[in-house]
Amino acid sequence: MATCQSCKKDWSWFQVFKKSFTVNPAVTCPHCLQRQYPTRKTIKRNQFLLCIIFSPFLLGILNIISAATVFTAIIVLGIIGILFSPFYMEITNEPLLKEKDLLK
Ligand SMILES: [Zn+2]
Repeated sequence: MATCQSCKKDWSWFQVFKKSFTVNPAVTCPHCLQRQYPTRKTIKRNQFLLCIIFSPFLLGILNIISAATVFTAIIVLGIIGILFSPFYMEITNEPLLKEKDLLK
C-alpha cells in the first residue's frame, strides 16, 4: 500500500483507490496534504496490468475465443485490476522528470 514520503503515514486501500481515479498524476496526501506522485515502478506496473486486462483482445483477434468471451473477460479482468491496483501503488515526493519538464 502507498506510504507518504513526507509524513511516512500509510494510506488506506480506499484512499489509494479514490486517488487512482484522478486525471492529475499528482495526488494529495490525506494526512499532511503534501503532493505525492506515482513512482516509475508504479507506472510500469499499471502499464503491465493494462496489457493483461486487454490480452483477451489478442485471443479474440486470433479467433481462439468468441467476442462475448472477450468482452466478459475484459470486464472481469478490469474490475479485478482496479480492485488490486491500490496494493502495489508506491508514491514519492518528486514528480518524474517528464512531469517536471511539463511544469516549467
Ligand atoms: Zn503525508
